[in-house]
Amino acid sequence: MIKTKILVTIGPSSSSQEVVELFIKERVSGIRINFSHGDPGTWDNYVKTLTEVSEKYGQYPALIGDLPGAQVRIGVTEAFQVRKGEVVPLLVRKDKVGERKAILIESAELLEKLDVGDVVLIDDGRLKFIAKEVSSEEAQLISLSDGVVGSRKTIVIEGKEHEQPFLTEKSIEILKYAVSRNFTYLMLSYVRSQRDVRLVKDVLRSIDGSNIGLIAKIETRSAYENLAEIVNEADAILIARGDLGMHFGLEEIPSIQSSITLRVREVGKPVIVATQLMESMVNNPQPTRSEVVDVVNCVKEGVDAVLLTGETAIGKYPIEAVKWLKKIISTAEKSLSLSSEYRKTAQADVREKYTLGLVLLAESLGAKLLVYTMSGSMPSRISKYRPQVEVYAGTSSKAIVKKLSIYYGTNALLVNDSKTYEEGLNNLYRKLLEIGVLSYGDIVILTYGSKDRLNNYLRIFEVISSTTSI
Ligand code: ATP
Ligand code: MG
Ligand code: MG
Repeated sequence: MIKTKILVTIGPSSSSQEVVELFIKERVSGIRINFSHGDPGTWDNYVKTLTEVSEKYGQYPALIGDLPGAQVRIGVTEAFQVRKGEVVPLLVRKDKVGERKAILIESAELLEKLDVGDVVLIDDGRLKFIAKEVSSEEAQLISLSDGVVGSRKTIVIEGKEHEQPFLTEKSIEILKYAVSRNFTYLMLSYVRSQRDVRLVKDVLRSIDGSNIGLIAKIETRSAYENLAEIVNEADAILIARGDLGMHFGLEEIPSIQSSITLRVREVGKPVIVATQLMESMVNNPQPTRSEVVDVVNCVKEGVDAVLLTGETAIGKYPIEAVKWLKKIISTAEKSLSLSSEYRKTAQADVREKYTLGLVLLAESLGAKLLVYTMSGSMPSRISKYRPQVEVYAGTSSKAIVKKLSIYYGTNALLVNDSKTYEEGLNNLYRKLLEIGVLSYGDIVILTYGSKDRLNNYLRIFEVISSTTSI
C-alpha cells in the first residue's frame, strides 16, 4: 500500500463506468472535476458514475471540484493552428463564441492592462505571443512559435496579474452546485491572498457548505509571496505548476515546489503537486525517464499527494498513467527514507508531542496504528509526522473518509455507526481482522484523541486470536 496519494482529473477520456471502476480498483484517493471545462450536466454524469462505483466497491475517494477563480480563459473555439510570425487578433466578445481565427475573451479587463510589447501566454505557456497593436476592444498578437490554440485555455500577460474580483456570479453558482452535490474539497484557482480564501469560506458558510475543505492553488506571484497567510486560512495547498510556470521562470519551479512543500508540511496540512507529472502519457503508454525522476522527487520531498490532470482527463492512457504512478511511488517509498528533521520541531503543544511519541512508538514496535475518529483531526495530526508504519483511520462518516483520503499514509475506512470511541475502535479492529489486514502476531496500537484536553486512549497488544472483539 502506497503512502503518497494519487488524485486524478476526470474528463472525456475517463468518464466511462469502465475507466472509473479501474480508477477505484487502483485505489485512487481523489477525483477532480475541473469546473473550467464542461457544464453542470457533464459534471453530474461524472458525479453519478463515481457515486455508483464508490458504493459498489465500498471505496470513497475525495470528490474535488476546481473553481476557476480570478483567471481569464479564452472562448470556445474550434482548435486552430498558428505559425511563428503569424498575426492573430485578440477580441473582446461577450459570448466568447467565434468563427474566425481569433482569440476571444469575455471582458476588456485584460486589454486594459495590455501594452504594446507585452508577452501573452496561453495554455500553461505552450503558446507565446507578443502584443503589436492594442486598443480598448482588440489587440494584434504576433505568434512567437508554431502551435495550436485550443478551446477554453487560460491566458495571462507575462509579469502582470489579474485584479478582477475573486468570485463572479457564475462562480457563486458553481459554489452552490458543489454544495448541493456534496463535494469534499474545492480547489481555488488564482488565489492571491488570504482574503480570496476567506471570501469563499464566507460564501460557503452562508449556503450551508462549511464542511467543504478548501485547497488553495499556488500559481501566481502574489500567492507565493502570501503563502504563510494562505496556508493558515486554507485546509490544503496545491502546487499548480502549470500556471506557476507562466508567472515564474520554469527554472524556478523546483525550488518553489520545495519551499512550498516544506512550509505546508510544517503546518501539518496536505500539500499536493500537479501538472505535467506524466505529460507524455497523454499520447504514450509509458512515461519518460525525466517524468519518473520528477515523481520520485515529489515522494522524496514528502508531499501528501500527486494529481494527474490532462493525462487522465484527455489522455489516451488514463489507467496506464495511474498504474505507472503507483509503481514509481511504491518503488520509491521502499527505498527512500524521508528526512526526519521536521520531527525535531514537534510543537510545544502537548498533543503534538503525544502524536509524535505515538508515531515513534509504532515505528519502533513495527506496529499497525489504528485510530477511530469522529472529526478527522487525530489522523490528520498523525499524518503530519509521516508515519512509516501502516495507519488505519476508522470513522462512521463517509464525508470524513473522503476528507482523510488525501492525507499522506492514511488508510481511511468506513466502519459501522458507533456511539462511542471505544465502540468505534472495536468496529475498526473487527473490520480489519475480517478483511485480513490484521493477522496472528501483528502488533497493534489502538488510539483515539480527545478534543480539548490530553485525555487520549492508548492500548497496545499482539494479535493472538481472531476473536472478534477487543
Ligand atoms: P487548470 O489551470 O485549472 O489546471 P487546465 O485548463 O490546465 O486548467 P486541467 O484540469 O489541467 O485544465 O486539464 C488539462 C486539459 O484537459 C485542459 O486544458 C482541457 O483541455 C482538458 N480537460 C480537463 N477537464 C476537462 C473536461 N471536463 N472536459 C473537457 N476537457 C477537459
Ligand atoms: Mg492544468
Ligand atoms: Mg490553472
